[in-house]
Amino acid sequence: NADSALFKAKSSGREGYAFYVQELTDYARQRVELASSLRHALDNHELRVFYQPLHDLENGNPVGMEALVRWQHPQRGLIPPAEFIPIAEDNGMIGPIDAWVLEQACGQMMRWNAEGSALRFVAVNVSSRLFSRGELDLKVAQVLAETGLSPQQLELEVTESAIMEDPDAALSLLTRLRALGVRLAIDDFGTGYSSLARLKRLPVDKLKLDQSFVRGLPDDIEDAAIARAVIALGHSLGLYVLAEGIESPAQVDFLRALGCDYGQGYHFGRPAPVTANHGGTPMATVAQASQTDTRS
Ligand code: C2E
Ligand code: MG
Ligand code: MG
Ligand code: MG
Repeated sequence: NADSALFKAKSSGREGYAFYVQELTDYARQRVELASSLRHALDNHELRVFYQPLHDLENGNPVGMEALVRWQHPQRGLIPPAEFIPIAEDNGMIGPIDAWVLEQACGQMMRWNAEGSALRFVAVNVSSRLFSRGELDLKVAQVLAETGLSPQQLELEVTESAIMEDPDAALSLLTRLRALGVRLAIDDFGTGYSSLARLKRLPVDKLKLDQSFVRGLPDDIEDAAIARAVIALGHSLGLYVLAEGIESPAQVDFLRALGCDYGQGYHFGRPAPVTANHGGTPMATVAQASQTDTRS
């Protein structure tokens, strides 16, 4: 990618520079190509929603599902969101994509309800680009009305860094969303430098401790200190805390001992599509190992 090309350029002088320019043009061309095919991805039915379970750490039960979008590209195969969400944010497709994921997730939650599932909510990620436009709350209200989903069964995830890009716009949007009755979670918490003064005013329900602080648990002393501090901070503000990226039983034990409320990660289940022949029940979703994400 461009970063590694830049590194090579810096480390090998003039020749490296030519190499850098070549690699950068390849990178730029690829991005332009992806951007133009992304415009048709929705109409061509190339987007997929995968679901990953969110577990109660006290009893181990799944309580919710997070919707995670993927792009089934006809030539390139399954493209992860990190590779096309930034492009969608630049070319204006992020609004339609996030709205589509929201519709899919709310419809799927209604089906889980109809099947008698014990799942309490579905979580949907929202891009910071939708903050400034202020129409997100109208879209959410519309989708809830169209699908018939109760607002308490929808959780919206907003990253901490998105909030900090424009804290005033975020506060006003989150307040309007909260008024609809949906739940709100701050995603990737610990990576976005929010001030405690701002945090205490945000109308949110949950902090999602970023997976970068979970990775080193239970042995890494700094990660352990951060996890302990974020859980204490969240609880003292009356918020639930979920730990992202849990991959081992030792991490579950450690986080449970700290009083962390919820957990998510490959230990519990990878993101996977809901398949019709399995009735779409949550455990079947988790068990669909062959189709789940296998990249690590
Ligand atoms: P996120 O919301 O923080 O989602 C969690 C990410 O961590 C997911 O990556 C998930 O697959 C991954 N993950 C879960 N458990 C583990 C684990 O145990 N180990 C490791 N190494 N990773 C784990 P994914 O699906 O690639 O999504 C990346 C990011 O893309 C998401 O981070 C979210 O910020 C964004 N995203 C995904 N779907 C959407 C969407 O529909 N709209 C928008 N705007 N952003 C989305
Ligand atoms: Mg998320
Ligand atoms: Mg996250
Ligand atoms: Mg993340």
